[in-house]
Amino acid sequence: MKTDIEIARAARMEPIVDIAARIGIPGAAVLQYGPWKAKITPDYIRSLADRPDGHLILVTAMTPTPAGEGKTTTTVGLGDGLNRIGRKAMICLREPSLGPCFGMKGGAAGGGYAQVVPMEDINLHFTGDFHAITAAHNLLSAMVDNHVYWGNELGLDVRRITWRRVMDMNDRALREIVCSLGGVANGFPREAGFDITVASEVMAILCLAVDLDDLERRLGNIVVGYTRDRKAVTAADIGAAGAMAVLLKDALMPNLVQTLENNPAFVHGGPFANIAHGCNTVLATRTALKLADYVVTEAGFGADLGAEKFFDIKCRKAGLKPAAAVIVATIRALKMHGGIRKEDLARENVEAVRSGLANLGRHVRNVGRFGVPAVVAVNTFSSDTPAEFAAVQEFCAELGVEAIRCTHWADGSKGTEELARKVVSLAESGMSQFRPLYDDELPLWEKVRTIARSIYGAEDIVADAAIRDQFRALDAQGYGHFPVCMAKTQYSFSTDPNLKGAPSGHVVGIREVRLSAGAEFVVVITGEIMTMPGLPRIPAATSIRLDEHGQVVGLF
Ligand code: ADP
Ligand code: MG
Repeated sequence: MKTDIEIARAARMEPIVDIAARIGIPGAAVLQYGPWKAKITPDYIRSLADRPDGHLILVTAMTPTPAGEGKTTTTVGLGDGLNRIGRKAMICLREPSLGPCFGMKGGAAGGGYAQVVPMEDINLHFTGDFHAITAAHNLLSAMVDNHVYWGNELGLDVRRITWRRVMDMNDRALREIVCSLGGVANGFPREAGFDITVASEVMAILCLAVDLDDLERRLGNIVVGYTRDRKAVTAADIGAAGAMAVLLKDALMPNLVQTLENNPAFVHGGPFANIAHGCNTVLATRTALKLADYVVTEAGFGADLGAEKFFDIKCRKAGLKPAAAVIVATIRALKMHGGIRKEDLARENVEAVRSGLANLGRHVRNVGRFGVPAVVAVNTFSSDTPAEFAAVQEFCAELGVEAIRCTHWADGSKGTEELARKVVSLAESGMSQFRPLYDDELPLWEKVRTIARSIYGAEDIVADAAIRDQFRALDAQGYGHFPVCMAKTQYSFSTDPNLKGAPSGHVVGIREVRLSAGAEFVVVITGEIMTMPGLPRIPAATSIRLDEHGQVVGLF
């Protein structure tokens, strides 16, 4: 079996201008970054405004195993499958973060015969968007400390500066630091720290902004800290928003690449799926909807987080109306929810699959709460058996949803023809009656309770009085109409990653709330959330190098 990078390297890529031409983008609108990557100009994007939208298809998943169940792979496979059956389809994905490639997660450009290419570029520096975000974020950090240094006219309380620094690297040594050491000339020493770039609020803002003006407005609304009497100080107060927008102007243009089968894909923006909403940019999705009849996109994590935030944050804010959802399931994840240990997941066990199906069932019903019709895509692994698949099919039939066996990882678009046909029939049935789960007007606390009860199956939510006061304060300060952005483990419907299946009656404890005033959501944190990952004992970096031909080896 070939590795992902071997398959990617053997791809017969077409010049990106040809890919663009095929979906009707004229050469003048294509800013090339070498032969295989391009950005699409804002003028051209604006000129599309009056065109009708294609159908938006969300790819989400059941509660995954730590290895991932193949959402990205299925997004690419389905996009190729739709093209194969003669539909004009585009794919929209997130840009992977560079840091984790050197840790243990590997790349995030799909897998097997369902990938976007050029794989090394997409996984590493790509078109420089993340570097631009890092620079814009850190410009604001530098200006905050500089403001304090030169007299602190705004009266920022240095103990209450919440704006940190970012870097696109897994570096645990920088999680908590003391900055401005070394004497009077270096400012006022204070506690600070670094997050990984994808956790930056600037990333979330870039992904939700509808144009450059909206980007600058949102950047200005970022709260960087508070005065001694708890008054918020914003990036606009510091005077940073204009310069940040300048640094981000190219990054805001969607990146066009292709799949192994030469179909067009936007890979643009990559916010964390916990403290942010975990989807590619609104601009890429909206542009793709103007260019193609079908747009297939992925939301990070399982459907309890990814789909909920895609619907309640991205679609609500950007006015998107998804036509259908694909819920990716794997036999190995079903067995894990059926109580099987990791070492035994590859052995046939129909009973374990049956007992794990409760997890899938809840995700299917949850997607239905948003009024979006769904289909289950079983991402086939070589160890799956016909009897195991039959158990899934039978269960899904009882639920009133079809389960389709997909083999795109091994076979490319041939393996998703049936899924593509089903998606077309769901989309064209006009069945989707998309609606967000809660109204804008509901108080923040009630929004969280609604999600916990109807999506997580929880009995209730709890928090200390101090945190409940913060919720009330945010409502009172005029942020109550924001959606909430849930940060929860993706490994369980509950806040305990070990609680598998479809637990109910549990209580969701809320540890923290954070305002993302520029991104326009309130982050609700349940459990430990890591915003600066570390590297494992033996990082993947130790086996990544250039071979004698100057080609990258060891990236996977
Ligand atoms: P997600 O987007 O859900 O995190 P990915 O699509 O990135 O998942 O897939 C995770 C990993 O699993 C990738 O390395 C991919 O190559 C691999 N993978 C996906 N589907 C299959 C499959 N059917 N058989 C074997 N490996 C697979
Ligand atoms: Mg993915």
